[in-house]
Amino acid sequence: MKKLALHWKIIIGMVLGIIFGFIMNTVDGGKGFVTDWISPFGTIFINLLKLIAVPLILASLIKGISDLKDISKIKSMGLRTIGIYVCTTVVAIIIGLGIVNFIKPGVGMPQDTIEKIKLKYENDAGVTDKLVKATAQKDAGPLQALVDIFPSNIFQSFADASMLQVIFFALFVGISLLLIGEKKAKPLIDFFDSLNEVVMKMVDLIMLFAPYAVFALLANVIIAFDDTEILIKLLYYALCVFGGLILMICFYLVMVSVYTKKSPLWFLQQLSPAQLLAFSTSSSAATLPVTMERVEEHIGVDKEVSGFVLPVGATVNMDGTSLYQAIAAVFIMQVIWPEGLTFTNQMVIVLTALLASIGSAAVPSAGMVMLVIVLESIGFPAELLPIGLALIFAVDRPLDMCRTVVNVTGDATVSMMVAKSLDKLHEPKPKEWDDNYEEV
Ligand code: ASP
Repeated sequence: MKKLALHWKIIIGMVLGIIFGFIMNTVDGGKGFVTDWISPFGTIFINLLKLIAVPLILASLIKGISDLKDISKIKSMGLRTIGIYVCTTVVAIIIGLGIVNFIKPGVGMPQDTIEKIKLKYENDAGVTDKLVKATAQKDAGPLQALVDIFPSNIFQSFADASMLQVIFFALFVGISLLLIGEKKAKPLIDFFDSLNEVVMKMVDLIMLFAPYAVFALLANVIIAFDDTEILIKLLYYALCVFGGLILMICFYLVMVSVYTKKSPLWFLQQLSPAQLLAFSTSSSAATLPVTMERVEEHIGVDKEVSGFVLPVGATVNMDGTSLYQAIAAVFIMQVIWPEGLTFTNQMVIVLTALLASIGSAAVPSAGMVMLVIVLESIGFPAELLPIGLALIFAVDRPLDMCRTVVNVTGDATVSMMVAKSLDKLHEPKPKEWDDNYEEV
């Protein structure tokens, strides 16, 4: 076991978790066993990752910014990051719209299938919950998202793990440290430097538990699938989303190869533990510490870039989510509201899916909540919303797992591109997970 690379250990854990989940699905009382005795280990793992996310962002960004020595670089890093994020998201939406219009997965879906799905999921707690959350989100004022970046109590931001507020605070402290001069800033910079090392080591330690945790997480996902018939009926739609996500990954690999001149395979290999965790947890936020560790230590992006680009990306850059929202919105229209499928509506989807993916939280199934807002923006009849969501609900979790991988890969790609453009992409330190394993 010790000789295996980390990503193989995680893959083995995942496969065993899936097999175990299927077996437990067929055994009497098996689901209860997984819920009571297996799934808590997945929760513990996610809790540990969330635990270190805030200290990691703080330490990495404050240390990184204070190393910059030049405030104008922060502005150019911020502008480049946001610019590239917007461009990649628009590419994702265009890919999504292209595929769904070409393949038309919703056209000709038999009426009895629609009725069956309606009966089963229209009043499902999961669907109702998304609708309630979407209404709450919509009721906030237009500038609320901007106001939310500025915290009034930083301890509250830490407690809520409000990424953008923590990033703002870290930038504020980092810039102030730059301004007070080296001598006075040194004790605090040393503190954050040391904190950064400690948290990175904590990521290593937590990752030792990853293969077991993904076993628990995937077993728990599998026991939730109970209607394979409906899953098969939605296969066409699911394959469209999946195909779009694969195209998006190819797009990133081309960017990595052309822009940063690094090997795409090497990039995938270095990032794979983060991608596998994104798949297992369906949460970019929970994966963030591992993404940061991989990008900084294994890909060679400097801290000041990764400390800013990755947490911002986990919050606002969700290419997989936007691609899914574009496909899901059009698929739902193809099935139950074909008269809404106009060119103008599709153009509106480009804009609203961009905003909706920015507004989606980095947690499981957040993309589906914001899909409601995309649908409403094109005048989708409110009374059809529950059936609209019900249509895609059964396959949402596996698609969420896949789109989260794309979200995380997108953030890592952009961090490399921004780093390259600022001459902050270096050869990574020769450090392997297996060495850490030996050290521990
Ligand atoms: N689960 C996704 C993420 O955390 C968001 C979503 O698309 O639901 O990145």
